[in-house]
Amino acid sequence: MRLWPRHPAEIPPSLPAALEAQDWSALRENMVRTQIERRDVRDPAVLKAMRVIPRHLFVPVELRSSAYEDRPLTIGHGQTISQPYIVGSMSDLLEIQPAHTVLEIGTGCGYQAAILSQLANQVFSVEIVDALAKQSSRMLHELGYRNVTVRRGDGYLGWPEEAPFDRIILTAAPPEMVPALVNQLKNGGRLIAPIGVDNQVLVIVDKDAQGRTQQRTRYGVAFVPMVPGRK
Ligand code: SAH
Repeated sequence: MRLWPRHPAEIPPSLPAALEAQDWSALRENMVRTQIERRDVRDPAVLKAMRVIPRHLFVPVELRSSAYEDRPLTIGHGQTISQPYIVGSMSDLLEIQPAHTVLEIGTGCGYQAAILSQLANQVFSVEIVDALAKQSSRMLHELGYRNVTVRRGDGYLGWPEEAPFDRIILTAAPPEMVPALVNQLKNGGRLIAPIGVDNQVLVIVDKDAQGRTQQRTRYGVAFVPMVPGRK
């Protein structure tokens, strides 16, 4: 039996080689295995979505080679694309069902919205920076994620015309819980949000069948602040 050298096709590409060849799917698979699966993300639909969505297309061209690294990236307009693990973990904690309608606050580049598009029936996403709302909307449309609607607006107001939502996710941190958003949650719904100024924590709010809410804290996070709305 010949053990070595193996046929080149059997040898997994090293990361630099994958980068050179721009083998994005190899980088993506490596990201999911080492950063997401190996930690605590279990929802098969979330893992599948992260294996499919081309994260590198949501970052500026000059940052593409870093798109699958284990960290957030700063990508202009005071905006960041969250660390892959945080996107996976928050999506997992939301326990999204295929029939759900989800509201996202803070579209940014649209990567989290693209992941949500694979998990839910409908996604509505609000972004306060006009240029980002336009850019992410265009990208999501170009990539064919037709169940996502992005609009420029103040996330503190939510999206009253489409409320109530089964799930709500904030990807910018308000100093404290936002009652208007909790009000837009269906009974039986769940909201997840980074809360706080200097020491942020990830908070989950569950609304029961009678509309009573319960709040618990998961872990410490560092999101961009949710800026006060403009008129
Ligand atoms: N969801 C993104 C991360 C976005 S970073 C991802 O997939 O990577 C947070 C975003 O929230 C920024 O784009 C910022 O402009 C936006 N934001 C901040 N305050 C906001 C507000 N009040 N309403 C809506 N969006 C807001």
